[in-house]
Amino acid sequence: MKDCIFCKIARGELPSKKVYEDDHVLAFEDLQPVAPVHVLIVPKTHYPDLLTMSSQAEGRRHLDKLYQALPAIAQALGLEDKGFRLINNCGEDAGQTVMHVHFHLIGGLPLDPKIL
Ligand code: AMP
Ligand code: ZN
Repeated sequence: MKDCIFCKIARGELPSKKVYEDDHVLAFEDLQPVAPVHVLIVPKTHYPDLLTMSSQAEGRRHLDKLYQALPAIAQALGLEDKGFRLINNCGEDAGQTVMHVHFHLIGGLPLDPKIL
């Protein structure tokens, strides 16, 4: 999508600190990290949110590509033993601000189990 910032990052038109990339998936550092490790994982194809993506057969295939990339992303971040939290904000009440589906991967310290 032309004016979407994560599409622009996926196309290389905006800078990002990439931690993983393949044909379908990109992971890059969040601009405003909330933990020592805070990475956004996005499909290269534009879907506005997880509900829209999950509602389409092709979207579900792209979601599977994203999950397939997760072990390599965790390894690239050195979190495969310690673990991490994966969060998706879907829609207004969840506070989604960028309307290109993305997962927040957060880790690098013990996270409060009471929050989410
Ligand atoms: P959400 O509230 O779930 O939509 O999260 C959007 C996230 O995108 C926020 O954590 C922002 O800090 C992050 N963000 C916005 N623009 C950029 C960018 N150009 N590069 C990296 N992260 C970004
Ligand atoms: Zn997009």
